[in-house]
Amino acid sequence: MTHGEPAPPNTYADRIIAGDLAALDERALEGFLAGAGDTSDLMAAADRVRRQRFGDEVHLCSIVNAKQGGCPEDCGFCSQSRHASTTVGPERFIAPHEAVHASHKAQTQGASALGLVTATRGLADDSRALSQMVEGIRAVREAGHTEAHASFGFVSEPALRELAEAGLTELNHNLETGRSYFDQIVTTHTYDERIATIRAAKRVGLRTCCGGIMGMGETPRHRAELAMQLRELDVDEVPINFLVSIEGTRLERVEPLEPLDMLRIVASYRLALPRQNIFIAAGRHHLGHLQPLVFSAGASGLMVGDFLTTDNRSVQDDLDMIKQLGLRPRNCGAPKAETKGGRQRLPVVA
Ligand code: SF4
Repeated sequence: MTHGEPAPPNTYADRIIAGDLAALDERALEGFLAGAGDTSDLMAAADRVRRQRFGDEVHLCSIVNAKQGGCPEDCGFCSQSRHASTTVGPERFIAPHEAVHASHKAQTQGASALGLVTATRGLADDSRALSQMVEGIRAVREAGHTEAHASFGFVSEPALRELAEAGLTELNHNLETGRSYFDQIVTTHTYDERIATIRAAKRVGLRTCCGGIMGMGETPRHRAELAMQLRELDVDEVPINFLVSIEGTRLERVEPLEPLDMLRIVASYRLALPRQNIFIAAGRHHLGHLQPLVFSAGASGLMVGDFLTTDNRSVQDDLDMIKQLGLRPRNCGAPKAETKGGRQRLPVVA
């Protein structure tokens, strides 16, 4: 090991498995993200941590558009932004019976949670939009097919409490990228506004799902910043998306990441975030034939079914892949780590 390089990945895995969940510091993480050491060694270490925490289980979740298009925000990757020149037009909010139908479909596809996602800046207090989503979530809860998760943008703490009382169990609110790169991607709101929503969700007892998009031109430093922020927030689930460049968006010309770089990101995040359910969402088709290796790289979940504005491969293909790998689908929602003597132990699922 030369000065400044991380230690061999297995030394971090040993410490993590022994209970030191923060064994990987930001500098070592950035080193791995920047290419230090063999990718196969990094993946082997990440896989040990994944197996300790999640055994042979793969968390599956699914999302549906609860209100598509016409968003006033200017996120450079997003085809639903009004600032993009795409054909994704604004639509009405999903009706409760449609949400129940989507929840039933998600259940038949093996997912135990359905995320209702709105292309909105947020849900204002006392707004019609808020009451529509409260109704939709209550309908999903009462139907009992899946848990109700959601992604709405900014929501106040009282509104989050109302949504939680209606049946919402988990809020998705991605940070998208590292703090110091965020203003290259979004200018209509701030990183701190996003963080405030995540903290409010935690205060009302919601589980939190918070991750980002890789391959938007960010550096290993930015990726390490994001992981460390997610660790500090102690979110429950971390979706990793890989940019799908969509014509008409500001990032339409950005080339996809190489598959091995994608796996290195997943493995580095597993060592940085050993407690969290790290699941792979949009853009995993960029992995090509290496897609089954996401689990060996430390991923513990997949988003199945179509994404918001892009297709995914069939759910049956994903279920077949999971079975052929000797893994099995598991309900969404990660178990909490146990605390022992001030150090956390990773509960073993297998
Ligand atoms: S806030 Fe969400 S829907 Fe709106 S532009 Fe950004 S990513 Fe798209």
